[in-house]
Formats: sequence, structure tokens, C-alpha cells
Amino acid sequence: MKPPPFEYHAPATVDEVCALLGSLEDAKVLAGGQSLIPLLNFRLARPAHLVDINRVDGADRIYERDGGVAVQALARQAAVEDSELVARVCPLVVDALRLVAHRVIRNRGTVCGSIAHADPASELPAVLLALGGHVVARSTRGERTIPAAELFAGVFETALAQDELLVEAWFPASGKPSAILEESRRHGDFALAGVVRAGDRLALFGVAPTPVLADPRDPGRGLKPSGDLEATPDFRIHLVRALSEKAFAA
Ligand SMILES: Cc1cc2nc3c(=O)[nH]c(=O)nc-3n(C[C@H](O)[C@H](O)[C@H](O)COP(=O)(O)OP(=O)(O)OC[C@H]3O[C@@H](n4cnc5c(N)ncnc54)[C@H](O)[C@@H]3O)c2cc1C
Repeated sequence: MKPPPFEYHAPATVDEVCALLGSLEDAKVLAGGQSLIPLLNFRLARPAHLVDINRVDGADRIYERDGGVAVQALARQAAVEDSELVARVCPLVVDALRLVAHRVIRNRGTVCGSIAHADPASELPAVLLALGGHVVARSTRGERTIPAAELFAGVFETALAQDELLVEAWFPASGKPSAILEESRRHGDFALAGVVRAGDRLALFGVAPTPVLADPRDPGRGLKPSGDLEATPDFRIHLVRALSEKAFAA
């Protein structure tokens, strides 16, 4: 299928991106396109404007900040996966990225795009939540920091405003015992359910409209996952219990 018509914009600076997002009605940021383009092709999204950020210079840095790792908007998932800094400071992010899709998709897909997209079955939002990280959002109104605990609002929904660009995601160091475990039909598929352990903290994904923090002693408590052709609600609860046990035994 072909996407519905849209007006294409290719700004060269973050300020230009913010100006466009602030002035255009119904605009969407295009980063790696690995989620947005299929949505357009299936006509599940019909934005009037696409603001392509791929030509913005100097927006792909991966650097150490406040004892953790900051990943800018255009840093590709593959670059973050290969980064020596990330492997040293926050190896949990590398472990998570190896579960995201396939390498060809990670060559284009961005870490920030995955977080902004907020798929409930995505690994990176759950990692950000488990670690207690945050994102930095920018618009013509200024810059603000949004903690992961306040970012994820629903299925494909975040606290980012329509005119805000997610300029950076910040992951605290994951030195403490940490692990990400998931169950999926095939390698590279979205998870049926998954868990992230960061020290004593546990986050679950694929079992609620957003990633959620859970009590490691009773991870299934209060969960009401949806069922589909791939897994019943009970099976998803069974999975998070079994995976949490494994993550904390490791
Ligand atoms: C076959 C396949 C399998 C996949 N499997 C997985 C998987 O197992 N786990 C997983 O997590 N993901 C998976 N993905 C999704 C992939 O990781 C995407 O790359 C990622 O979710 C989105 O990143 P992107 O840079 O491609 O964003 P895009 O597709 O460009 O954008 C996605 C959404 O985020 C918004 N957005 C992007 N960047 C920003 C920004 N900086 N500021 C504000 N809004 C922004 C866009 O407007 C859009 O709404 C899969 C994709 C495919 C095609």
C-alpha cells in the first residue's frame, strides 16, 4: 500500500524542527521510519505533515551525562548497541536492543523513536522505566525533562505534546544486577510479555497499555493484560511470573 498524501519537510536544525512542529497543524516527526512508515502504508496514521529529522546535524550523539548515558534523537539503535560507552555504563540497554526487531531494522530505527512511539510491547520504554531514566523534550516554548514514570500515558501515547521533539533519552547506569527477559514467537518479534530487572526494581512490558513497575515478590498482582490470538491474559500473567523469577534468580 502507498501512504496517504502528506507535505514533507526536511529541516536542518533542531530549532527549525521545533518551529515547524509549533506552527504546523497535524505534523509528525519522522525518525527511523520503522514504525511510522508501516503505519502510513496501512493508513493507520494520516498526518498532514511529516517533519523528517534525518538531515538535522549533530543530533545523533551518545554521551555520558550525570553518571548515565544520554542518547540523542537521531542515534540509531544499532549505533547504541555497538557503543563501548553504553556497554560499559548501561549494558542493560545493549541487552534490550538485541531483542528489538532485527539488525537491519535497528540500522535505521532510533532509540528515541522507539520511546516516543510507546508500543506497550517495546523493550526500551520498559528499560527506561525500570532504571528510572528520563527524556528531554524541546519545543519553541523551551525544554523540559519528563521522568519515565510520567512519560507513558497509554497505548502509543506519551506525555509529549504535539509540538515537542524528544531530543534526548537518559538512561542511568545499570551496574547493579540487571536483566531483560521476554517471550516471543520468533526472534525479533514483539514480545508476548517481558520483564526488566534493574537492581531491586522490576518493570513489565506487553501486559498493560504502558510498561509498568511491579512488585518482584508478586509481579502478577493487579495485572489485567489483554488476550489475542498469540496469548491469553492468563498466559501473559504466567509468563511475567516465570520470567521475573528467572530474572531475580540470575
Ligand atoms: C518487523 C519489525 C519488527 C519490530 N520489532 C520490534 C521489537 O521487537 N521491539 C521494539 O521495541 N520495536 C520493534 N520494532 C519497531 C522499531 O524498533 C522502530 O524502529 C521503533 O519503534 C521506532 O523508531 P523509529 O526511529 O523508526 O521511529 P519512527 O518510525 O520514525 O517514528 C515512530 C513514532 O515516534 C515518533 N517519533 C520518532 N522520533 C521522535 C522524536 N525524536 N520526538 C518525537 N516523536 C518522535 C514519530 O512521530 C512516530 O509517531 C519493529 C519494527 C519492525 C518493522
